[in-house]
Amino acid sequence: MAWYPGAEKMELEPESDEQPAITPTQVIFHSVAAPWTPRRMYEYWRDSTNLESHFGVGYDGSVGQFVGTETRADANMRANRRADGTGAVSVESASDDQSTDPWTDPQVVALVALGVWLHQRHGIPLRICSEWDQPGFGVHRMFPEWSDGGTACPGDARARQFREVVMPGIVAVAGGAPLPPPSGGSGPARYRVTINGLEYGYGAHGPQVEEVGEALVRLGFGRHYQSGPDQDWRDADTLNYQDYQHSLGYSGSDADGVPGEGSLRRLLGRLPSPQRVSLAHVVAAARTDPGAEQGHQTYGGEVRIVEQALADEGFLEQRWVDGSLGTRTVQAYAAFQRSLGYSGDDANGIPGQRSLQALGQRRGFDVTD
Ligand SMILES: [Zn+2]
Repeated sequence: MAWYPGAEKMELEPESDEQPAITPTQVIFHSVAAPWTPRRMYEYWRDSTNLESHFGVGYDGSVGQFVGTETRADANMRANRRADGTGAVSVESASDDQSTDPWTDPQVVALVALGVWLHQRHGIPLRICSEWDQPGFGVHRMFPEWSDGGTACPGDARARQFREVVMPGIVAVAGGAPLPPPSGGSGPARYRVTINGLEYGYGAHGPQVEEVGEALVRLGFGRHYQSGPDQDWRDADTLNYQDYQHSLGYSGSDADGVPGEGSLRRLLGRLPSPQRVSLAHVVAAARTDPGAEQGHQTYGGEVRIVEQALADEGFLEQRWVDGSLGTRTVQAYAAFQRSLGYSGDDANGIPGQRSLQALGQRRGFDVTD
């Protein structure tokens, strides 16, 4: 009875105790035709059918083990247990209802890690089976003896991934290569990171995404865009960013097309901030609030960001950070301008592009027009 340390043990009874022993010589991958967690697979085999597998892999890469690998499981027909006592280890995986979707990146990583363990633990050879009873790895559809009259399982996409990604991955990792990161499956990386409070990577949304895309295009890394960059991060953004990372000399998981702090800072000259202040809004406030009634707020949210920055720089008392760009804030801003070397009209307390950007760079907000 061998239990994989990378799996949560969910022992199926009576199968685990009553089914005969096998000497595992094969590994067969399946799709379960349902978007199930390992726990749900366990419940299904416990309550509904007896065609269990040894393992189940969820979309998130979590692994459950239901029967020891030296006990027969029943998902592979004649390969479950042959007359000579050899048999197949079967691995189910969450899929869509038609078993047409590819394995997710975390599933690929989980299957590779499990395959390596089965190779090391049971000596299963690092090759794709060429006969139904030849030791090695395979997918359910490969031989009619592995099913009841033929099956499409695990689907076209996964059959291709098995040959192009999973099996080569098992061979590489068994030979000492590092396990790929969760993004290391097929296709562009599809995860997000948060840098300085803003998201980047597949699915991220916002002006910071468009800014990265525009900077990539400016530097000549825009070849994957069908149309220009926008505020949604898609695979094209990842691929362009990957080209840029390669140009910096990054490789491997450091060049997967998802920004890191270092490459992002080099690309933009700074790290974008979730705090954004419009110069036009602040100027309008500086022209309106001092003459309006006490505490009048024009664009109060943005003004408060500027006021807090002035307070943090020592030009404004904290109690005047109130969202109203009144006389005291104008005086404080004028003092900040003088500290930058401006004088006369350039230090009149009305924010200008350069002074506001200087304040933003020191205190972590972005300036827009
Ligand atoms: Zn199957």
